[in-house]
Amino acid sequence: MINASLTELAAALAGKKISSAELTGLFLERAQAANPRLNCFITLDPERTLAQARAADARLAAGKGAPLTGIPVAHKDIFCASGWLTTCGSRMLSNFVSPYDAHVIERFNAAGAVILGKTNMDEFAMGSSNENSYYGPVRNPWDAGAVPGGSSGGSAAAVAARLTPAATGTDTGGSIRQPAALCGVSGIKPTYGLVSRYGMIAYASSLDQGGPIARSAADLAVLLNAMVGFDARDSTSLERAPEDCTRALEHSLDGLRIGLPREFFGEGLSADVARAVDEAIASLRTLGCRVVEVSLPNTRLSIPAYYVLAPAEASSNLARYDGVRYGYRTAQYDDLLDMYMKSRAEGFGAEVRRRILMGTYVLSHGYYDAYYLQAQKIRRLIARDFAAAFERCDLIAGPTSPSVAFNLGARAQDPVQMYLSDIYTIGVNLAGLPGLSIPCGFGEGGRPVGLQLIGNYFGESRMLNAAHRYQQATDWHLRQPDGEARP
Ligand code: GLN
Repeated sequence: MINASLTELAAALAGKKISSAELTGLFLERAQAANPRLNCFITLDPERTLAQARAADARLAAGKGAPLTGIPVAHKDIFCASGWLTTCGSRMLSNFVSPYDAHVIERFNAAGAVILGKTNMDEFAMGSSNENSYYGPVRNPWDAGAVPGGSSGGSAAAVAARLTPAATGTDTGGSIRQPAALCGVSGIKPTYGLVSRYGMIAYASSLDQGGPIARSAADLAVLLNAMVGFDARDSTSLERAPEDCTRALEHSLDGLRIGLPREFFGEGLSADVARAVDEAIASLRTLGCRVVEVSLPNTRLSIPAYYVLAPAEASSNLARYDGVRYGYRTAQYDDLLDMYMKSRAEGFGAEVRRRILMGTYVLSHGYYDAYYLQAQKIRRLIARDFAAAFERCDLIAGPTSPSVAFNLGARAQDPVQMYLSDIYTIGVNLAGLPGLSIPCGFGEGGRPVGLQLIGNYFGESRMLNAAHRYQQATDWHLRQPDGEARP
């Protein structure tokens, strides 16, 4: 059961081979047993979860099941879920029980999915290694000495270790794709605006986008069908006719043009990652794809532009945590200002404080034009680079991350080195495009390598089609970490 696809699980539930209570119980047990070791979950609440599973069983018995009814899904602790502790990986929200559901949670609830638990993450989704969580780092199931990537590290590691069939994540600069790559699982960041940000705790609102993490592209398609949808409560939510993301999965790849950006294969890319990605591209050729070279000349500017824009938005979004309305408040203070200052100094971790300072600085009078405005212009140039590339190809392919998972602690003292982990993913967010990562082999130390596919706006079905055909021809996505194989 732990290796079954979502479609197989749905069939087993509909055919009464297993109940949701049994299935959910199985994954709950695995999650509880593994958590002291991997630290994937901030909150597990078996009673609440099993009550939802029993409700799903009643729904199935009444013949009212939908594709996800009765299937447990873990959610990144950035999604507000009614009655659940929702911490965003921060001490600031360590006492926050959400009174409402995020749109994504509403969608999963409506589909009958069961909330398995809330997954660990970098504080306020700032990070690439999960080491910025107030709840401690997550360990990579492939190697306990390695990071799982971030910021959706708990979700990716939980899927890799078969603690849950699927999970949600969010991706502001790579936080779905990079941990998926480092943990050897599949993840997709949709076109900006497809998944509502309502109830998804804000980091950098013009970049934040929710998406699924699972073991295969076919599973991602099923999950995306549940997550995508217009929501009037998110002002950037797109109103489009619903589309079935599974419909193109089996299409032939004959003649599909794959663009390889020269800038993704140069300096900075580890040899082991390059080798696995090259082989994956050879497989895509065998499947009928045509490969063309493209250029994204402003790639090297994506990190500096992002680290102006994202902190600027974060400094504004995080101003709401003042110790008054909700969240952490310092125990002792002299007056109101002292209370604000101490609550924020104690409630936020070092990386979050660093970004608030950077963001406040680049938005300040006198620096706004030099930094913020300049970064907005670069953002536009990056989007133009992609538009030019998509005149020559249908999908862009390359590595997700420049290296395999690094050791815990290896980059923790060097923020710039950490920021470079997202060199191939951040441009996609700046342009608002969809991107996915699927496993394509192993590099140094037997650690997984991810292949990134980038699509044009609303190209999700085509990307999932290419990923699915690749997964039918290869078995990287079926491999699982040794210690986690027990049924
Ligand atoms: N690693 C990047 C950051 O630290 C991206 C994080 C994300 O996508 N949420 O901001």
